[in-house]
Order: sequence, then structure tokens, then C-alpha cells
Amino acid sequence: MSIKQRILLLFLLVSFLSLTQKNRKVGIEDSLRYSLSMSYEAIVDMLYLYESFLDISVLGYSEFGQSIPLLKISTKSAENKKPVLIVGNLHAREFYSSKFVLKFCDEFLYSLVSEDGIYQSANSILKDYDLYVIPVANPDGLKIAQEDWAGIESYRASVDSIKRIGPYSDWKANGTGIDLNNNFDDGNFDVKHGHLFEEEPASQGHKGAFPCEAKEARIIQDFVDTLIPLITLSYHTKGDVLFWADRGTHSYFNGLDEKLNTKVADACGFKMARVSRNPRDYGAGLENYIRAKTKRIGVCVELSPPNDMVDQHPANMFKSLVWDKCKNMPILYLEELSRLYPRYKYLFEP
Ligand SMILES: [Zn+2]
Repeated sequence: MSIKQRILLLFLLVSFLSLTQKNRKVGIEDSLRYSLSMSYEAIVDMLYLYESFLDISVLGYSEFGQSIPLLKISTKSAENKKPVLIVGNLHAREFYSSKFVLKFCDEFLYSLVSEDGIYQSANSILKDYDLYVIPVANPDGLKIAQEDWAGIESYRASVDSIKRIGPYSDWKANGTGIDLNNNFDDGNFDVKHGHLFEEEPASQGHKGAFPCEAKEARIIQDFVDTLIPLITLSYHTKGDVLFWADRGTHSYFNGLDEKLNTKVADACGFKMARVSRNPRDYGAGLENYIRAKTKRIGVCVELSPPNDMVDQHPANMFKSLVWDKCKNMPILYLEELSRLYPRYKYLFEP
């Protein structure tokens, strides 16, 4: 082989390797139950594969010192786009929600760098939006629900002293027994008294002694206050239902909230909950805080069908119960919001 041929061969090999590198995705496994460390690993792998569109930082640390990572997916241009916030796993046991959020990020980022990605509009979405993603908002709770004590052994005794309703796998609160989605300062904290109410810290149903008592709620609320996301999608599990409006704030949106959520509910086969009536029931959730204090769109999305049980669906049902049905959901929200925005701009840019 001549030197010229060798150089040509080497050149082809290098281009092939760089091509295969670019055409890889992390590949979130549909059938596995994702632990906190698996989620962290997936996030680091994403940074390696999609550096040109992804920034990763630590938003803060949980009560037990676990990182709460923040992903920013953007074109990295100097121009700030409309901010969007996507949150997973505020509730400990709802591991489908962080897996969904991570898989969405992986597929979205892959679609930005590769033509065979599933989201054909990924690049045009980033012309309008910067995506901020908190895949695991409640890392301590996720570890407790999976009885994954590595790294939090020193908190085991305090966790055991908290009132536990059901097995660990039903754990919903953070590590100190506060339900994070009852702990935001939306103006209704004092009246909040959910149907599973607990006066003292518990595995579910305790709202805390004061708003943002839980470090995780404080960190997320402070971030929301600086970012003011135009839309927040907060992912939970159980119900195939959207909690999209409450009586206190619904009228402000002048129909935008209903149009947007109807579009998504129809496309994904979800029900729309009735407009929440009583602040005693609905108050102090992240979506309520978003609507009441920032006057932006906030939706609590309950992934996976109801089964009249507290138990989560098995990990290996994720694809059929969640992914196949909802993989386009964040895209649908953003495309519909872009379409409706000119008519409703006055709400956000007075
Ligand atoms: Zn939940």
C-alpha cells in the first residue's frame, strides 16, 4: 500500500470514528429502574456526547448533601431565549418521572446533532427557547424509596424515626419527611390541608412547618424566581392526567392555559383535571407557585395510568405506559405555545 493510500485509509477511519461518536446517544434503558447514581451517570454521559448544546451545573444540595443537577439545553448563543423549566421526581417514589425527563433530554439532544433523531423540530425549538431541566428534584427521597442507602448511611436513623406510611417504596417526601409539592410559598401554605394530612414529618402528607422549610423546595423556588420560566412542566406519576389550572389564577391566563393543555391532552390521551377549586386541597405545589407568584404557565403532569394503588408500575412497563404515549409531550407544549404566543404576548410582556 502506498503512503498516499495509507493516509487516505487513515483519514477515512478517523472520519468514520468521529461520525460514530456523533451518532451515539446515552440510551436511557426502558426496562430498568433508575437509581440516583444511574441518573447522575446518564447526565455526565450526556455532557460528553452533546457538549455543544448542553451545560450542566449543580443547582444546590439536598438535606443529605446529594447534588441536584441542572441541565441547560440551548444553542449557547449570546441571545437569551424564552426560558422553559422541566422538573422530575419532586416526589420520591415516582421514579418514572425522572426517567422520562432524562430520556427526553437524551433524545432531544440527539435530535439536535443527528438527522435520525425522533424530534425533527429540535433545532427550531431552540430558536425560541432555552430548556432548563431538573431531572431529580428530590434525590434523598428517591434513594429512600429505593432503599439505596449508599452515601446517606449516617441519616438512616433519622429516616427510620420519621412516621412511615406503607413500605419504603411508597415514600413520597424528602429526606426529612416533608412533601416538597406541599411546601412552596404560593400564598396558600397556611390553609393547605391535603386529604392525606400529617401534622408531623412523615413519608407523605406533611407540608412542613413553614414554606420552603425543605432545602430542596427553597433551592427550586429561588431558581424559579431568578429564571421566571414561561412554562414549567413538573412531572409526577399516576393518573394520565394534567393538573393545569386552579381557581386562584385560572382567569389570568385568559384561555391560553386551556387551549395549550387541551391540545396536549388530546394528542397524548390524557385527561384534564377540573380547575382545582379549593386552595386547601391544591395549595403550595410548585405549579401553584409558578402560576400565583410568577404569572406563568405551570402544569403538573401525572404520567402512567391510574391503578387504584399506591404502588408504582413496574420499571419494565415504562415504555408501553409512558414513553410510547408521551414522548412528544414537551415538544407539543412548546410548539403550541409558540403558535399561541403572539395572541397572548400581552400577558408576559406588558
Ligand atoms: Zn407526585
